[in-house]
Amino acid sequence: MEIDNVVCAFCGCVCDDITVTVEEGRISEVKNACTLGRAWFLGHSSNAHRPSGTVNGRPVSTEEAVEEAARILAQARYPLIFGLTSTYCEAQKEAIALAEVLGACIDCCTSVCHGPSGIALQGVGEPTCTLGEVKNRADLIIYWGSNPAESHPRHLTRYAVTPKGLFTPRGRKDRRVVLVDVRPTPSARAADIFLQVKPGKDFECLWALRALIKGIDLEEDAVADTGVTLAQLKDLADRMQSCRFGMLCVGQGLTQSRGKQMNTTAVFLLVRELNGFTKFAAMPMRGHGNVTGIDNVLAWQTGYPFGVNFSRGYPRFNPGEFTAVDVLTRQEADAALIIASDPVANLPRPASGRLSQIPTVALETRESETTKIAKVVITTAPAGISAEGTVYRMDNVPLRLRKVLPSPFPSDEEVLSRLLERVKELKHA
Ligand code: SF4
Repeated sequence: MEIDNVVCAFCGCVCDDITVTVEEGRISEVKNACTLGRAWFLGHSSNAHRPSGTVNGRPVSTEEAVEEAARILAQARYPLIFGLTSTYCEAQKEAIALAEVLGACIDCCTSVCHGPSGIALQGVGEPTCTLGEVKNRADLIIYWGSNPAESHPRHLTRYAVTPKGLFTPRGRKDRRVVLVDVRPTPSARAADIFLQVKPGKDFECLWALRALIKGIDLEEDAVADTGVTLAQLKDLADRMQSCRFGMLCVGQGLTQSRGKQMNTTAVFLLVRELNGFTKFAAMPMRGHGNVTGIDNVLAWQTGYPFGVNFSRGYPRFNPGEFTAVDVLTRQEADAALIIASDPVANLPRPASGRLSQIPTVALETRESETTKIAKVVITTAPAGISAEGTVYRMDNVPLRLRKVLPSPFPSDEEVLSRLLERVKELKHA
């Protein structure tokens, strides 16, 4: 059976034009997806062989695993809830309710990817648009510190570089593409212009561009240590001012290098000022399928997009204090609930090592480095394959994940809802 208009929730592009073929209870073919999306659908198509749950490596039922998880979390003095970027908003909502009841810290992968973009947004705002506007209108695309050819392959072909739009009827021929990065990447092949910035000098380049578009005369010396010449920056500033609709795509090369939120603040200020000349927008290249969703759901419910602490009974936000890497590295967290994420494989060693020292509960669809060290593992139905819900594309457009395969396992939302009820009972016992 062929199912059309399926949504891929692997990366922040959240492509909603995928066709999957289901045969004998598994996905046998995937059309329109990139290699990453295809591998995601095929790799998740069956996890039925897994146990419903484990406690200390011993297979147990979902109910037993939930009971043990609830006991661990209810007894903890400073529990951490982390992950949530590869599940859907309805499950994220339950996790936030659980964090509030527990007085826990709740954080998501934003704190280790585009947290600095969120901080910049709070400071100066974010001049943004939808990916539909990019496709239909943008004639200048700048990828800065991003390698979409490898991280978001269909960003190039579906939204920003090659697609034909209402005011870009010739597709690629109607656009100029600039890549700014510290080294040439496979994305450079898709660009007309490549500017190689010295590592850690992005802020200086962005600030020089702001000066140039304000008409300030700069000496060559002012940009001498950036790796980019003044002539190159003047050319880019001219292109930015004279395009019809410009788009600056913010990659992790800006948020996770020296400067962090100052880099993204410089981007948003530059783009804000460019709107005095033309229409221009900026957008973080969000990585995981629903990382934008958890930022939104956390912000609706607590006022803050990541790194939220409920230990005083109300939400507090302080990156560096309440973010997962810091809470774990300082050995403050005494229990952890990891949802749809693999921090043991991805967080720095001092933080990930702490997860094997404390009782860790993992809600996961398949084996990962985190499930290997977790005291309790609860197997859940993969979101977007066997569980439906709402996700947010990187441009904050909500899309509905479809269920294309049955699963013997409950969804993240169902498990979190049961966990919440049980923790409430234990807390009030
Ligand atoms: S670009 Fe991202 S969302 Fe689109 S098919 Fe590839 S992995 Fe899936």
